[in-house]
Amino acid sequence: MRIERAGFDKRDPRDRVHDYRQYFSLPDDATLRAQGARCMDCGVPFCHEGCPLGNRIPEWNDLVYNDRWREALTQLHATNNFPEFTGLICPAPCESACVLDINDDPVTIEQIELAIVTRGFDEGWIAADPPDHRTGRSVGVVGSGPAGLAVAAELNKHGHGVVVYERDEAPGGLLRFGVPDAKLEKWIIERRVKLLEDEGIEFACNMDVGGDVAAEDLLRRHDAVVMAIGSRLHRDLDVPGRELDGVHFAMDYLYQRNRFVAREEGRPARETAAGSAISAKGKRVVVVGGGDTGMDCISNALREGADGVVLLDVYPPLPANGRPPTTPWPLPPKRTNTTYALDEGGERRFGSEVVAIVGRDGRAAAVRGWGVRGTSSRDLEPIPGSEFEEPAELVLIAIGFSHPEHEGAVTELQLDTDARGNLKAPVYGTKVPGVFACGDARIGQSLVVTAIAEGRRCARVVDQYLGGTGEVRRISADAMFAYEDGDPNSLRHQAETARTVTVGDAFWSGPRDKR
Ligand SMILES: Cc1cc2nc3c(=O)[nH]c(=O)nc-3n(C[C@H](O)[C@H](O)[C@H](O)COP(=O)(O)OP(=O)(O)OC[C@H]3O[C@@H](n4cnc5c(N)ncnc54)[C@H](O)[C@@H]3O)c2cc1C
Ligand code: SF4
Repeated sequence: MRIERAGFDKRDPRDRVHDYRQYFSLPDDATLRAQGARCMDCGVPFCHEGCPLGNRIPEWNDLVYNDRWREALTQLHATNNFPEFTGLICPAPCESACVLDINDDPVTIEQIELAIVTRGFDEGWIAADPPDHRTGRSVGVVGSGPAGLAVAAELNKHGHGVVVYERDEAPGGLLRFGVPDAKLEKWIIERRVKLLEDEGIEFACNMDVGGDVAAEDLLRRHDAVVMAIGSRLHRDLDVPGRELDGVHFAMDYLYQRNRFVAREEGRPARETAAGSAISAKGKRVVVVGGGDTGMDCISNALREGADGVVLLDVYPPLPANGRPPTTPWPLPPKRTNTTYALDEGGERRFGSEVVAIVGRDGRAAAVRGWGVRGTSSRDLEPIPGSEFEEPAELVLIAIGFSHPEHEGAVTELQLDTDARGNLKAPVYGTKVPGVFACGDARIGQSLVVTAIAEGRRCARVVDQYLGGTGEVRRISADAMFAYEDGDPNSLRHQAETARTVTVGDAFWSGPRDKR
């Protein structure tokens, strides 16, 4: 390979840690086109399989290389409603599956995706495209995270009326209140929400379904209801001292930080209730848990001016090549050796388990723990003599989420849950006629790209339930092969399994070809 991988241009961590602006940017067009040229257009494109949306990666790589950006955008939007989100924050399982990753650096797929959609917005190619006709049927979507936004966008395209109910003050779900602005500036969400509104979708924010409005009311108002409520129930740290002041769930901290940035930028945001502010300023911070949530806590704590941040990760270190034996190529590793947050400061300690939080005058003062060995939560064992105590005035618990909240709408609608507590909806329909589920609420905490894919597939099933629009989109010939028959991961196959299309039907949910 004569052209080397050239990733995103990253801002100097010593500078960017003082603001909340995006920490990376795209290289120039010539570099991007050269990066597109690195794609080998493999006979079996594993990257396409690696992407939960089945994005048509070799196609757009080639189009970018050939300076045909507008066609690349059509291909991109054919499978992905929101490439501006995934282009920024997807961990890119496609790149782990790139054939080049076997013995070289993978193609910069995510970067090229972002470049295509950025070009689309800059050139004015992305504009509201409301449906030509309305079916007279209506759908209530509960939750406005990426799954809720995707299901709403797809159903609206089919002409159904869609109202998205959101308990927070603004749409976006974890995109808005979990992910920091340094990774995803919030005007990007607002730009997409405005397009969706212009296409006819209604957003009802500050509306807790099961609280402000009864879930049963929604069933009366709409012909179908989609539960896209995420998986928000925190896993807790069951150790002595958990009740001390200064010990908080990571998400409570992240919500407050994202609202702080919103206020700084003049956007409306809920105030923090008196007495419940969480601040890292001037404090020794310990983050418990080594996933995305933990890293985003580090990023915020450093920007607030913490006195020091240590992240304790119970799992062992990753091999230098970043590929543990449990995730050989083409599987994506569950964690990565470097992250933007650790580049900015803080320290991660692998193989460290917290066993107690020590208090002084009712407030957290330190965490106690020991070193552990093992590869999964099932086989971890303490290492004798490895006990430690780490000063900690703020302890943030970021050890994951168990399942969606059952209290409220789920209980009210008497929905079934599976063995892990997620909403039971094997083919998106729940046991209650007219009620569907998708996204993290159905499959547990995942990724933005998976949530979008969930929303798209669910929309097919809901559309079928509503009688199907019977609308056959005009399909450009080069767009047809997006859906390979028989491929178990393809949208077409999923739709067939869900009996929303049969072999031979036209199957298309991308933008209409206006050429
Ligand atoms: C801190 C953090 C950082 C992350 N970073 C990344 C990342 O960098 N890249 C990535 O790919 N993934 C990331 N993820 C995972 C990703 O954000 C989620 O998998 C994705 O947002 C799930 O989408 P969703 O729509 O299913 O649920 P959510 O995004 O959780 O949205 C659910 C929505 O439903 C609303 N809701 C819930 N109950 C009700 C109700 N009763 N009435 C009205 N509204 C309700 C909630 O307020 C919320 O807005 C991160 C997750 C976290 C926690
Ligand atoms: S959405 Fe994610 S997995 Fe799919 S092509 Fe983009 S970066 Fe890769």
